[in-house]
Amino acid sequence: MVLADHNTTGPEYNIGIADKVLYQCSECGLHYEDEQIAKQCEAYCKEYQGCSMDITKLSVERMNSGENPQL
Ligand SMILES: [Zn+2]
Repeated sequence: MVLADHNTTGPEYNIGIADKVLYQCSECGLHYEDEQIAKQCEAYCKEYQGCSMDITKLSVERMNSGENPQL
């Protein structure tokens, strides 16, 4: 598990991602299983100073939140 972030990682997140390598957007701090998506998020965050819902819905945090990922 690769987590460089210190403020968004709670104990509950360890349940589903223990054996996965995650890529973090350095702008918003969300984690992604796919490096390309993490890069997209980072590029979007830098350009617009905010996150794209279409990208953040793919984040590990959003996936584990119980919300519908299809939205
Ligand atoms: Zn981001």
